[in-house]
Amino acid sequence: MKPILEIFHHAGFMEITVYGLIINFGIYGASLGLYFLLSRFPWKQELGEQQPVNRKDVLLSLITVLCNTVVFVFGVYLWKSGIIRLDKDFGFGQVILEVLLLTLIMDFLMYVFHRSVHFLRYFRKVHERHHEHESTNLLSLFVLHPIESIGFGLMMLGVIMLFPFSAVGISLYLVLNSLWGTVGHLNHSVLPQSWLKIAQKGYLCTSEFHYLHHQNPDCNFGFYTSVWDVMFKTIHPSLRTHP
Ligand SMILES: [Zn+2]
Ligand SMILES: [Zn+2]
Repeated sequence: MKPILEIFHHAGFMEITVYGLIINFGIYGASLGLYFLLSRFPWKQELGEQQPVNRKDVLLSLITVLCNTVVFVFGVYLWKSGIIRLDKDFGFGQVILEVLLLTLIMDFLMYVFHRSVHFLRYFRKVHERHHEHESTNLLSLFVLHPIESIGFGLMMLGVIMLFPFSAVGISLYLVLNSLWGTVGHLNHSVLPQSWLKIAQKGYLCTSEFHYLHHQNPDCNFGFYTSVWDVMFKTIHPSLRTHP
């Protein structure tokens, strides 16, 4: 990772923007590829009819990639100006702890952010576009109003300003975030029933969990875990199996 940071350190605005576009379109392509692969699983179980993909979805998903690139470039400049500090001496254990910490902090913030956009009148309008998908498709993860994409990005930059995380820890968290988001927007289940039960008992959000949110927007606001939904009693009635 050090040689990559060295490149960014000496790169100008245009160069950083091009790298940002490559990285963010790479994430977009990887998410679509994973969705396509998981849709081909022979033992998958349909959760409902797939949301049809339309031209507005394609356009909005590309705008989301551009918004994510803007956040990336902003993040690189925050780092270059010393506002974001990155730990250069880290071990394997530290990286795992960083990914866990980022996931847990972002899980709580995303629950608050997501629940707020459903209940505050102005933000409800902003989030409405995502909920035009009553079911989901391979673009649903990226079908967001630009305010939402930028809001998520700024929230993440705010968190990584708090501690000197390593670039590896941040990158792995972002991979996990894309993976979770892609699986969350599958309109079918790929886990066998027994695994699904284990995931639900372990408070992990599954495809079913977020699919139910698209069907019934008054519940299941969590992104990585259902902990906050259970705690604040916003979990879908069919998932209220926890002791
Ligand atoms: Zn969604
Ligand atoms: Zn929502």
